[in-house]
Amino acid sequence: MILITGGAGFIGSHLVHRLVNDGHRVRILDLLWDTPEDPSSRQIANLAHFPVGVEFIRGDVRDPLAVRQAMTGVTTAFHLAALAGVHASTINPAPYYDVNVVGTERVLEAATFAKVHQVIFASSSSVYGNAPTPTPESTPTKPESPYAHSKILAEQRVRDWATSHGNATIIRPFTVYGPGQRPNMAVSRFMNALRNGQPIPIFGDGTITRDNTHVHDVVDALRILLKHPAPFSTFNVGSGTSVSLLELGEEVGRALGLKPMFEFHPPQPGDAQHTQADLAHIQRELHWKPKYSLREGLRHTLKASQ
Ligand code: NAD
Repeated sequence: MILITGGAGFIGSHLVHRLVNDGHRVRILDLLWDTPEDPSSRQIANLAHFPVGVEFIRGDVRDPLAVRQAMTGVTTAFHLAALAGVHASTINPAPYYDVNVVGTERVLEAATFAKVHQVIFASSSSVYGNAPTPTPESTPTKPESPYAHSKILAEQRVRDWATSHGNATIIRPFTVYGPGQRPNMAVSRFMNALRNGQPIPIFGDGTITRDNTHVHDVVDALRILLKHPAPFSTFNVGSGTSVSLLELGEEVGRALGLKPMFEFHPPQPGDAQHTQADLAHIQRELHWKPKYSLREGLRHTLKASQ
């Protein structure tokens, strides 16, 4: 049995479909976190489309009993449940530490109790802050937001767990996009603005750059990890390329066949200036490389959301 915490969310739901397709038994632990900015209707819609046989437990990763129940009989746990989002964490940091750090601690405790063989933890590229790019995994972490800091603290606990309890892998995904993505992500916001005939909102002057990674590429990396349990490792998962927000807006416009207009707002706190993954480590160790260019990935995302 494979457990996916946060399996009703964006990346988790894609992983559920692929693992079931690969023949695995899958259980989800997800609270269906609900906020006015990101209502749980998207997770509920994901649940409705899961194949028969997928087990769903509605529960909180901070609740030791719920996590122990979810961990029963599990061989590998993908721990994806988190509060994700840099900007919101700068406004109200406490829940980010609570869910992302305390929640990870609970997951590790339950994994120990259930003698889980392998834990795969979704950290984030935001742990690098304003590091030089392309950024290898050996780069010292430097958080620019409470979200990034919460991921660094959780990473440390996963690393500690690996030394005494089992195999653990940390992945650091770089800005993930694709069908079903969170509504506050740039690609979602840009597509919505263009479709509604509105200017694309840009925070700052649009020159910050992002490595944008298609969700199918992230899921492929996670599937490979399932087949290669190792005592402990950390991998970047990215496209290995980057574009500015203005270039991203142009690309989204091209995919939709629309000319983008931009509307500039003050920069938001917590944003790193540039992100781009160095993929040498994951290519060497797992023979993984991204399949989607940004153009192909945006085309696929659009097609799937029509
Ligand atoms: P998401 O918000 O779509 O999924 C997270 C899921 O966790 C949601 O379904 C939510 O209901 C659930 N959840 C939140 N708090 C919970 C709690 N206390 N107990 C149980 N479930 C809870 O986010 P996502 O984009 O799919 O991200 C998945 C993971 O990948 C997160 O850990 C995130 O930090 C990480 N990540 C995402 C990106 C990205 O660009 N999407 C980039 C880097 C890292």
